[in-house]
Amino acid sequence: MSSHDAPLIIIGTGLAGYNLAREWRKYDQSTPLLMLTQDSGRSYSKPMLSTAFSKNKTAESLTMADAGKMAEQLKATIHTFVSVDAIDTEQRVIQFDGQQLNYRDLVIAAGSETINLPIENSAAEKTFAVNDLEQFSAFQLAAESAQRILIIGGGLIGCEYTNDLLSTGAKISLVELQPTLLSNLCHQSVGDALVSRFTEEGVDLHLGSAVTAIRANNNGVIATLNDGSELTADLVLSAVGVRARTELARGAGLKCQRGIIVDRELRSSAANIYALGDCAEVDGQLLYYVMPLMQCVRALAKTLSGTPTAVSYPAMPVTIKTSCFPIVSNPPSSSAHWEVEQTDGGIKALAYDKTKSLVGFSLGGSAIADKAALAKQLPKVMA
Ligand SMILES: Cc1cc2nc3c(=O)[nH]c(=O)nc-3n(C[C@H](O)[C@H](O)[C@H](O)COP(=O)(O)OP(=O)(O)OC[C@H]3O[C@@H](n4cnc5c(N)ncnc54)[C@H](O)[C@@H]3O)c2cc1C
Repeated sequence: MSSHDAPLIIIGTGLAGYNLAREWRKYDQSTPLLMLTQDSGRSYSKPMLSTAFSKNKTAESLTMADAGKMAEQLKATIHTFVSVDAIDTEQRVIQFDGQQLNYRDLVIAAGSETINLPIENSAAEKTFAVNDLEQFSAFQLAAESAQRILIIGGGLIGCEYTNDLLSTGAKISLVELQPTLLSNLCHQSVGDALVSRFTEEGVDLHLGSAVTAIRANNNGVIATLNDGSELTADLVLSAVGVRARTELARGAGLKCQRGIIVDRELRSSAANIYALGDCAEVDGQLLYYVMPLMQCVRALAKTLSGTPTAVSYPAMPVTIKTSCFPIVSNPPSSSAHWEVEQTDGGIKALAYDKTKSLVGFSLGGSAIADKAALAKQLPKVMA
């Protein structure tokens, strides 16, 4: 098969892979499409994994379509539970399960992987991370009977799970290295307000603390903190961050830094290979969120169908789904002057640059109602 007749191949069936396929099919009904995934290929919305307990959702009910249905809808061939292990950029060939396939264009939408804490852990089977539907399923099964759950990490995912797991009635302990919550995303005043709400909800918070070891204990775990104290729990949810999956791209000689380096047309350093989603560093920006990914989807679908299109990013505030104290934040990209106002039932922190232009905000509680009006005033992330 010449590379001209060869299919578009997309590696990954997460939000990036499936949304791109759907958008591209609007422009191109005839080019063959092949998709590959290491998982079951079920279509689901990943952000819903961290509100599933309180909404009584399971992996099954979160599934919008299985791989078979997606293949039908997208007029695609989808290979599930396979791992692409090499790319020959000269011959335009991918390799998986001992098979080789030509591509016309190749899109890497391989997502991110969770970071494992580099600590001694003799209770690995009681330690979970949730970054896909299969991991969620395993965690939910284990959490069903848990009385005490230890969450490590007070970023977006750790805070959302703390909020969500409160609905199970289990005792939640949360350990965070920084002195407040959401410190990478929010102004301190908003992080502190969430600390107060969680405390009222009975969360056992350990701020400014690190877990240094985890060991098995009867049917549960004992975690040691850096001050020498110990916490017991039935299971641990580790939420200390994710990193872009770049191994395959690096192996193929593609330029990577924190993610796979792509330009504003999502082109990697190799001809006919593109990347988007959590694995891609787009013009220097690595953003593990849905909104930037959707901007890339729209641009890349056009590029792949013959109209080269550069992506642009508007301001993209992040919603933190902590229903006991909802938060929306758009941290400024560089140092700023903050003005903080306590509102009725909320808190509003606004960030200004030297020219007194609004460059970011963190809103908590009832103040999130101002999100749309404030977002309009923010500069674009990428014009
Ligand atoms: C619990 C949770 C809550 C979140 N909440 C929010 C939120 O509220 N708002 C928000 O904006 N973002 C949120 N995010 C982040 C958001 O969900 C992600 O940015 C987005 O889903 C990433 O999609 P993706 O397609 O790039 O990657 P993924 O969903 O990770 O998909 C990667 C795909 O690549 C496949 N793959 C990888 N390597 C290979 C290989 N070698 N061969 C074959 N297949 C391969 C995988 O099997 C998978 O199909 C949340 C994330 C989590 C974990």
